[in-house]
Amino acid sequence: ESRLQLIHRHIRAFPDFPNTGILFRDICPILKDPAALTAVIDLFEEHVRKNYKQVDLIVGLDARGFLFGPLLAQRLCVGFVLVRKKGKLPGATVSVAYNLEYGKAEAEIQEDAVAPGQKVLIIDDLLATGGTLYAACELMKKQQAEVLGCMVVIELKELNGFERLKPHSVFSLVKY
Ligand code: 5GP
Repeated sequence: ESRLQLIHRHIRAFPDFPNTGILFRDICPILKDPAALTAVIDLFEEHVRKNYKQVDLIVGLDARGFLFGPLLAQRLCVGFVLVRKKGKLPGATVSVAYNLEYGKAEAEIQEDAVAPGQKVLIIDDLLATGGTLYAACELMKKQQAEVLGCMVVIELKELNGFERLKPHSVFSLVKY
C-alpha cells in the first residue's frame, strides 16, 4: 500500500456537518494511526526539502493546523507559529477578517511572531474555499514575511481555493 493510499484510508466523510449540505472530511483517524500520521509528515517533509532551500518558520492555522505543523517544524528544525481565531492570543496582536466556507471569522497572530523577511510555510488540515489560508497569507504580508507556499493534507478541488491563493502555491496530499 502506498503512503497516499494509507492516508486516504484514514480520512472519513460526515454528511451535513457542521451544517446541512456540507460533507465534512474528518482527519481524526490519521491522528489515531501512527503509520498514517508518519506518512503525512514524511510526505510534507520530502516536499519541503525538495522545493525550498531555506525555511525559517512553519505557520499553522487554528485548530487542525496545530496538529500537523509542530511535527513538521520539528523535522525541519525550525520554529512554529500559531495563527489563532481572534481573542485567544496574549499581548500585542495583528488581525485580519475573512469569510469561511460556513460563516465569518478573524485570524490573529502575535505581533512579534514573524520578523520582516522571514520565509514561512503555512500549514492546515484542509483547503476548501481558501479563505482561511488567504487570511494567513494576508497576516504574513502585514508583517512583511515571505510566504513560500501553503500545505494541506486535503484539498477540496471543486471549491477552487487554489485559485484564490494565487500567486501562492498549495501543496496537498489528498484531493477530492
Ligand atoms: P476555507 O477557509 O478554505 O473555506 O476552509 C478551510 C478551513 O475550514 C480549514 O481551517 C479547515 O480546518 C476547515 N474546514 C472546512 N471544511 C472542512 C472539512 O470538511 N474538514 C475539515 N477537517 N476541516 C474543514
